[in-house]
Amino acid sequence: MTSLDDFARGELDQLEARNLLRRLVPTAREDGIRLTRNGRALVSFSCNDYLNLSQDPRVRAAAKAAIDAHGAGACASRLVTGDHPLLGALERRLAAFKGTQAACVFGSGYLANAGIVSTLTGKADLVLLDELVHSCIWTGARLSGARVVTFRHNDLAHAADVLREHRAAFANCLIATDGVFSMDGDLAPVGGLADLARAHDAWLLVDDAHGVGIIDGGRGTTAGHGVDLRMGTLSKALGSYGGYVCASAAVVDYLKTRARTFVYSTGLPPASAAAAIEALRIVESEPERVALPLAHARLFTKLMGLPEAQSSIVPIIVGDAGRALALSKALEDDGFLVGAIRPPTVPPGTSRLRVTFTAEHPPAEIERLARCLQIRARALAA
Ligand SMILES: *Cc1c(COP(=O)(O)O)cnc(C)c1O
Repeated sequence: MTSLDDFARGELDQLEARNLLRRLVPTAREDGIRLTRNGRALVSFSCNDYLNLSQDPRVRAAAKAAIDAHGAGACASRLVTGDHPLLGALERRLAAFKGTQAACVFGSGYLANAGIVSTLTGKADLVLLDELVHSCIWTGARLSGARVVTFRHNDLAHAADVLREHRAAFANCLIATDGVFSMDGDLAPVGGLADLARAHDAWLLVDDAHGVGIIDGGRGTTAGHGVDLRMGTLSKALGSYGGYVCASAAVVDYLKTRARTFVYSTGLPPASAAAAIEALRIVESEPERVALPLAHARLFTKLMGLPEAQSSIVPIIVGDAGRALALSKALEDDGFLVGAIRPPTVPPGTSRLRVTFTAEHPPAEIERLARCLQIRARALAA
């Protein structure tokens, strides 16, 4: 064993003792909601494929046709030879969908935020974050060298206090929030944050990874608000892979010239771009499908006596990491996949089950999940 192996083994042992070790479990998708894991068929209430578009025959056909026409990969950074015409078409489609002048597609949502935040802010600037923003916004903020300050989750008054106290000492200021919080399922006060940003000469970034395809007829949480940077992913409700930001032409041109995660990373594969274009067409033309994930989440919160769901994500906070794992395991025995979420993804003491709802979940399965969950939770508490 080298000292590196010793180090890794020691860290792993400590994590295991605290119920914080994570393991990959091979999982095969069977259709929009069913998957196979450990030789067992499960109904998934864990996927972010809210509209089941990753398995949609039309989206699959678009991806296959793009591979047949253009090959499997983009072959280079977009600034070298990787700027496939499908990427421009996807960007025009995204800009029209979000009502902005332009859009920039990145290799993933994580790469998008890491690049956007670190490119637009630097040492002289202030980055103000909701305390629960996604990891990739933190990555961008830390890379930027800017002063990073948080405000209490969804607390506009606290955000205003922080701005009054700190804004004047910095050159530029970027406020960033998730539109739908990925582990809590609640919505940011986007309009209020846009007003604050305007009042304090700050820029607003909203990460709508879980909003697009679900909220406001599928348009997400930013529609109708003054949001400078409308960021999102192609990898969740759109069923494909990749990230993007919709913004003014000047901002997009600047990011395409300077964002390191864009400049030094290979362009998105043609199949991912073609799948996303088809998925956007479906989101815009099938409002009945778009309404279903939220309706299903609301059926569940009603059955469970929980506050009404605001998105397709419903957390069941159990506190202790071991208990969250035990509950998730018990539900697997009942034929459900419901992920246990532990620190550092969520704050210590707030381990939870994260239950997600999709268009194709049969109401009878949602009812069975609610029944099983109540029985399992009672048994664990006893
Ligand atoms: C999943 C997620 C991302 C990252 O997107 P990927 O395309 O999966 O890299 C960014 N922000 C939020 C809020 C997310 O939930």
